[in-house]
Amino acid sequence: MSRSLVWFRRDLRVADQSALHHACQNATDGVVGVYVLTPAQWKEHHDSALKVDFWLRNLKALSQELKGLNIPLVIISAKSFAECPQAILKLAQQHGCDTLFANYEYEVNERKRDAATRALFAESQLTTRFFHDRVVVPPADIATKDGRFYSVYTPYRRVWDSLVHDYLNVHPAPSAQKPLKISGDVIPDQIDGFAMPSPELSDAWPAGESAAAARLEAFSSIIETYDHDRDIPSLEGTSKLSAYLAAGVISPRQCVAQILAANHQELKKDSGSGVWVSELTWRDFYTHVMCGFPRVSKDRPFKEKTEQLQWRTDASDFEAWKTGNTGYPIVDAGMRQLNQTGWMHNRLRMVTAMFLTKNLLIDWRWGERYFMQQLIDGDLAANNGGWQWSASTGTDAVPYFRIFNPFSQSKRFDPNGDFIKSYCPELQSVPATQLHDVGKFAKASAGLAYPAYCVDYKSGRDRALEAFKSLK
Ligand code: FAD
Repeated sequence: MSRSLVWFRRDLRVADQSALHHACQNATDGVVGVYVLTPAQWKEHHDSALKVDFWLRNLKALSQELKGLNIPLVIISAKSFAECPQAILKLAQQHGCDTLFANYEYEVNERKRDAATRALFAESQLTTRFFHDRVVVPPADIATKDGRFYSVYTPYRRVWDSLVHDYLNVHPAPSAQKPLKISGDVIPDQIDGFAMPSPELSDAWPAGESAAAARLEAFSSIIETYDHDRDIPSLEGTSKLSAYLAAGVISPRQCVAQILAANHQELKKDSGSGVWVSELTWRDFYTHVMCGFPRVSKDRPFKEKTEQLQWRTDASDFEAWKTGNTGYPIVDAGMRQLNQTGWMHNRLRMVTAMFLTKNLLIDWRWGERYFMQQLIDGDLAANNGGWQWSASTGTDAVPYFRIFNPFSQSKRFDPNGDFIKSYCPELQSVPATQLHDVGKFAKASAGLAYPAYCVDYKSGRDRALEAFKSLK
């Protein structure tokens, strides 16, 4: 007789959940689920209140799904990851579970926690089985000819394309297990230190696998215009699945498999579907980079020579950026979207990140942390990858001298100013012709309740070029 323990982390679903699938296949005497609340660790990782609320709401949905399969979901609390191995072992012993099932997490602290858990279980003659589940192609399954991790996307992508079909075996939700005399725990509505969001915000991100599936379904009907619409922030042109992918409410395999099935298993790279799958490949790539170059998740740049860069630490410029008061409309609209909704459009993440790191020359780590503290979809690999790309310190980084001009960006991607005006209503009276020009905008906005430029465009840009040029 064998009883399985499944440790849920950022894989809050029953369908296509590798650890759960194998746990159910293995068990002859029932399955127990566990989730560990680690609020102090979440604070240390800068996880946002909105994201924690999303986790809790998805845990409730998961607990219901599991109940239908006779799998109780036990909730335990630990201050930090350091306490997890002992707490999980104690639970396994208490409920007579002989094997622990979990999916790999690739961040440094998570890897340490899991290594300690495996060692502790082995000491107690209990088995642990871990599975790759977070990305489509496991990080270490793609390697250069000499066995190293890739640091450039394009060759990585070529290998990914050649392998992906081997990794799309989507497991259905397991069947009901043997009933146990163990009851699941009540999931808390809130955790101390993480404020509850407004009902409007929660409603914008409904919990549960069916909500994620419905979002993918709805997006599938507009996916063919994704290659164009994805850059226009005033349109609902992207999937808005990032929070669900980050919490593991849907798997990237499910996404890719569904899109490929709708396209007879063939994707044209430049079609809407093809471009969308490329974004999921970027997600895999940044996880691959984080796994292969752990320094990036320890506050260090991928490009080591940029370690010497003299970033500014100007608190008032940083505050203007954070609050959406830089005087640059597209930057402010993006930051206000982040602050008000906990999500920001990808184009604006690039624009605002580049503005902070280039025009203000403020340390990318400050921006990375602030994003993490606000985002509902905060994910270390993707966030770090995006920030290091923008700051020109990363793998496939943008060359340091190619600095986005915020006015050209808004002219191209928000020509009528619809997005800008929705977040900066004080600019309602400014005609679109004057929104996208540094000189005309200064005149048009004078006297409005809108801040003046926090940095002169040309001198800010020159300062960044100088700082990068001076790197040995
Ligand atoms: P879609 O356009 O529908 O894309 C589908 C999915 O692909 C996304 O849900 C996401 O999982 C993935 N994806 C898309 N673009 C990227 C990308 N550039 N890198 C990695 N994965 C991608 N994404 C996060 O999930 N979490 C983050 O913390 C995060 N921080 C970012 C910080 C910066 C500075 C930048 C430039 C980008 C960041 N991104 C992050 C990537 C991207 O902006 C978001 O994934 C995307 O905006 C989410 O919206 P969507 O679900 O509608 O995406």
